[in-house]
Amino acid sequence: MGLRFHQELVACRADGARTALYATLLCTAGVAVAAVLLYRWLPRWRQRKDRLPELYSAQRIAAAVEGDSGDDERLAHLARLVRRAKLPRDRLPGFVCNPRALSAGAVTFGSVGRYTVCLNVGLLPKRTTEDRAHFDAVVLHELAHVRNRDVDLAYLAVALWRVFLTAVLLPCLALNAALVLHDRFQGIERAYWDGYEPGAKTALLAVVLTALVYVARADILRHRELVADRDAVFESGSDREVWSKQAESRSAASPRLRLPRFLRNHSTWSERLAEMVQRDMLTAREMTVSKVRSGRIRRRAMRGRAPKPVA
Ligand SMILES: [Zn+2]
Repeated sequence: MGLRFHQELVACRADGARTALYATLLCTAGVAVAAVLLYRWLPRWRQRKDRLPELYSAQRIAAAVEGDSGDDERLAHLARLVRRAKLPRDRLPGFVCNPRALSAGAVTFGSVGRYTVCLNVGLLPKRTTEDRAHFDAVVLHELAHVRNRDVDLAYLAVALWRVFLTAVLLPCLALNAALVLHDRFQGIERAYWDGYEPGAKTALLAVVLTALVYVARADILRHRELVADRDAVFESGSDREVWSKQAESRSAASPRLRLPRFLRNHSTWSERLAEMVQRDMLTAREMTVSKVRSGRIRRRAMRGRAPKPVA
């Protein structure tokens, strides 16, 4: 009798474990699929919602890159920047304008095969003024996002975060709250075994997991900004004075309360400038090391060729 009960218990536990495994795999796949669908849909929704007028389609930009920009000086200018950014042909973006954004910035959105650079209306006049370097730097930064596939990464991270919040965290908290309430007020048939109180532990686990996902997402978004800055300056030849000026003007403005860096999606201008200075120092150090090494190699080679002293 005892043996039979034991066998049934083992079989029951194996069944339970199998069901839990299948359910976990199915739910994880569901979350991944939902995130991918949201990632594809978000940029289209954004363009439709904000009703952003098109400046140039991706096809028009492709023709201009080949040399056909007609008499449109602005199109020719954008094509030159696209060439400087060394974008592959299948990743050429279209350009739209945001007539409600007055700052001299831009943003890029889209998903695989269809990218859009949205220039703020406040940025457009810079192109024909002495501050043309600012226009170039902003556009080259956005084009670096396209070249590095940051747009995909950022939108995937955002989509995954939203799916996690709505399809994982909220249902998990709601289910656990319902089970805890059920145990408290209808304690005859408990959902959990005696002595187990899931409320605080589950909530703590959910908070820790959410914090980890949030920090990872912020880190991805922040890191891609810094890489795009570095590419714009060191690969595409943007004027780094633009970053210095921005850092100076922002630090001269009234100080604002900020979240700690690891919680922010964006770095400040001073942090972005500091990243470039660090890269400069690293490059200088690498060059010094390689010069010292090549000097040593040359000296050794010369010593090897020198005639041996006669005894
Ligand atoms: Zn950016």
